[in-house]
Amino acid sequence: MRQMIAGNWKMNGTLAGIAAYAAALGQGVAGVDLLICPPYPLIGPLRAACAPGIAVGAQDCAVEQSGAHTGDVAAGLLAEIGASHVILGHSERRADHNERSALVRDKSRTAIAAGLTPIICVGETLAEREAGEAETVVRAQLAGSLPDGFTGLVAYEPVWAIGTGKTATETDVQAMHATIRAALKKQLGEPGETMLILYGGSVKPTNAASLLATSEVGGALVGGASLTATDFMAIAEAARR
Ligand code: PEP
Repeated sequence: MRQMIAGNWKMNGTLAGIAAYAAALGQGVAGVDLLICPPYPLIGPLRAACAPGIAVGAQDCAVEQSGAHTGDVAAGLLAEIGASHVILGHSERRADHNERSALVRDKSRTAIAAGLTPIICVGETLAEREAGEAETVVRAQLAGSLPDGFTGLVAYEPVWAIGTGKTATETDVQAMHATIRAALKKQLGEPGETMLILYGGSVKPTNAASLLATSEVGGALVGGASLTATDFMAIAEAARR
């Protein structure tokens, strides 16, 4: 199955940098799906600059379809300007904006209705892992964040590994991805058997090959290393099989 390498630029990137970034990505990497999620204002320009085979997505969307919601951005508008995917429930949204799983689930419904493919993020904090609660937390996030009939992707992102340089061991990743697979099958039935489960948390060119070769890892969600096109492409090359 093709892997997906998704870049989350977070609150980084400039209009001036788009052309060089898109040129460095070129046609992408054969056999690997590439997705870049820049800040909202850069979605349209990046879509226009990138090769058609490279997907562009958003980092969030509003739960409502439209209306009096100052500062929010509608999923339908994101689709209209060329986004194909949307990251939902990233740990930084859950922490900075107090987003709960029920809201993530409702946003996911809105996104799917607008034609976007959601990437739902789940992951435990260091305190939860040290308390032996990692699997319970992640199972609860999946149960709360995925609507019935969910179609999309899931990203396992241990909070303690995001932007810290700490990466989960392959054993940790394998165990948690197996837990997520079992939960997806139980929750969604057959579609849960093949749904891509991305790993995210300090993925870099140096550790990508071993993480991407781990059982049940269907690709990577990459933060910091996606800001440099050459690093992002090196990670994508590691996904080539
Ligand atoms: C992320 O924020 O989704 C992420 C995985 O970040 P980083 O790769 O920088 O740890």
